[in-house]
Amino acid sequence: MRTGIKVELASRVKNLPPYLFATIDKMKKEAISRGIDLIDMSIGDPDLPTPPHIVDAMKIATEKPEHHRYPSYEGMPSFREAVAGWCKSRFNVTIDPGTEALSLIGSKEGIGHIPLAFVEPGDTVLVPSPGYPVYPVSALFAGGESYLMPLREENGFLPDLKSIPEKTLINARLMFINYPNNPTSAVASREFFEEVISLARRYNIIVCHDAAYSEIYFDGERPLSFMEVEGAKDVGIEFHSLSKTYNMTGWRTGFAVGNSEVIAGLGKIKSNLDSGVFQAIQEASIVALQTDDLVLSEIRNIYRERRDVLYDALKQIGIALSSPSASFYLWTKVPEGFDSASFAAHLLEKAGILITPGNGFGAAGEGYVRFALTVPVERIREAADRIKSVL
Ligand SMILES: *Cc1c(COP(=O)(O)O)cnc(C)c1O
Repeated sequence: MRTGIKVELASRVKNLPPYLFATIDKMKKEAISRGIDLIDMSIGDPDLPTPPHIVDAMKIATEKPEHHRYPSYEGMPSFREAVAGWCKSRFNVTIDPGTEALSLIGSKEGIGHIPLAFVEPGDTVLVPSPGYPVYPVSALFAGGESYLMPLREENGFLPDLKSIPEKTLINARLMFINYPNNPTSAVASREFFEEVISLARRYNIIVCHDAAYSEIYFDGERPLSFMEVEGAKDVGIEFHSLSKTYNMTGWRTGFAVGNSEVIAGLGKIKSNLDSGVFQAIQEASIVALQTDDLVLSEIRNIYRERRDVLYDALKQIGIALSSPSASFYLWTKVPEGFDSASFAAHLLEKAGILITPGNGFGAAGEGYVRFALTVPVERIREAADRIKSVL
């Protein structure tokens, strides 16, 4: 008989909660195998295709042999120049492409790696709750300890910075924030960003603003980039993703911009772990970043229509929610008699609708669920009818 070695996971892995969307994926597969006509509104993965001009650029780029070799670690100069041009034209922010921009294999990659550059074991990382699950996990992998900043509805889903204990702030190395916010859809005010900057200066905290949804907004008003607020570049960086803006989740392309020392620190980790973004993808990303805003406004219009249909339907049913002005999520209170998990389970079992329980984004999300507007509007109408019939 052959016996294997004893394979034991490291404690940093053993202690992880199951990755939220891996769990949801399992529920989805089970439902489909039972023959349910599932409407999947659980994950923030756009159903719309990548615009054709970007796909065409990729086809041409893959034929160039120079792109078949290892890419540069920090991104091609032309990619970083396109990033700087995009920041200038969208936010009127000046970025030095040489020192203040870095290509990422999707922004999740950069978010996952940044604490390794700056967090010592035992240091505190300030993390929003509910929030993108990668923030506390990346802190944990670096040996840091997360301090959860609750995002409460009565505060507009902004963390109450004044409630963070002094001791915690002194021990904090890094803070994650994310606006337009996933999962709550909240948008940050300039005053809030100013408060973050002054706190970061006082306690020497690196601010990492995740701006994955900066281009998904409705009703006219463009959400602020953290970088356009006076002093932001002194205290931190901003993560951007091409995934949500250009329907490119599968391509794995994003970037970080901002404080040159923070960018250099993240770059140092990356140069030891990965070898950059496929240059053909960088070339297609350059074309993406130069996309005519008309294309983006068509995409925004599609999400706006879906938002309106779902919002009206949920409101009619008597579910408490407000209409989001950005991101492609509806964050709603669960009806009386349910908690997050039981309401999500009820909709899956009785209506064949998959949504994300709010507590999956952290304990402070209990009592809420998240609907992603990443299915066609006819399916949203169908979902609304089904919800009405099971409540
Ligand atoms: C989708 C998402 C990301 C990750 O985007 P990628 O660039 O595809 O890695 C990061 N942050 C938030 C809040 C997201 O929702």
